[in-house]
Amino acid sequence: MWGRAVLPQAFGAGASGGEPIGEIWFQDGRGAESELLVKYLLTRETLSIQVHPDGDAARAAGHRRGKDEAWLVLEAEPGARIGLGLKRKVTRTALRAAVADGTLETLVDWRYVRSGDFFYSPAGTIHALGPGLAVVEIQQNVDLTYRLYDYGRGRELQVEAAVAAARLEPFSFAARREPEPGREILCEGGAFVVERWTRAAGGRLAGEIERPVWLIPVRGGGLIDGEPLQPPSVWLVEDQSRVRIDEGSQVVFAYPGATVIDALFVDTRSGRQIERLDERRHYRPPTRLEPSFR
Ligand SMILES: [Zn+2]
Repeated sequence: MWGRAVLPQAFGAGASGGEPIGEIWFQDGRGAESELLVKYLLTRETLSIQVHPDGDAARAAGHRRGKDEAWLVLEAEPGARIGLGLKRKVTRTALRAAVADGTLETLVDWRYVRSGDFFYSPAGTIHALGPGLAVVEIQQNVDLTYRLYDYGRGRELQVEAAVAAARLEPFSFAARREPEPGREILCEGGAFVVERWTRAAGGRLAGEIERPVWLIPVRGGGLIDGEPLQPPSVWLVEDQSRVRIDEGSQVVFAYPGATVIDALFVDTRSGRQIERLDERRHYRPPTRLEPSFR
């Protein structure tokens, strides 16, 4: 098992201070400037039923961006579920009424999940993670959550804002494709792209300052800029760093923007880009993001 028992040790003794860890997030000092935020979530109880606003609504509320989220399930206890969208189309009035009379939970579409499942939850999707899950969460980097229901835990709800932001319909799955064996595009067309690689690969990664790539080794690993690449770690790549993925590994790449970077490893496809790199004076090494615990 990768999860709750093993994870604290992977981060070093005392990382959790003896408390069960629920959330580990990976950041550098850039704060809100970073487009994406990667977390590991380990759920012991159902998280609140919530909604995040889209870019327009978030900016109107004074934030830099809206919030799409995605989850890759690493471990799921039998019966573990994620709530995504509603079982049927409803009006805003009906949604508000379901919150008021305590039936929201039965209106949410709960689905059983397994290790390896992936979900892209666009802003406005009503969602909640159930207990017994270890997931990698990739999200647009903004702290902006509207809670509809919190299972009586007493935290503040933001029902009106949530109802206004919510998509009032069933969830629709993102289309997946596998442009080459062992390279899956898990989502595209939204605020960020997520890819899962299960094949050996090596070369210079197509990271840029304008479009950095988050690299998340989930199983196995390899090398990044000569350093060991292994879970649990998250790397931010903003230049054409050398990356090697070993046979039998599983590595996730996430980057902002709607479109897939076709040549994610530039020098397996194009000699010209290598020349351009060698002409550059400054090389920006990859950043190993520091974990924080909660
Ligand atoms: Zn959320």
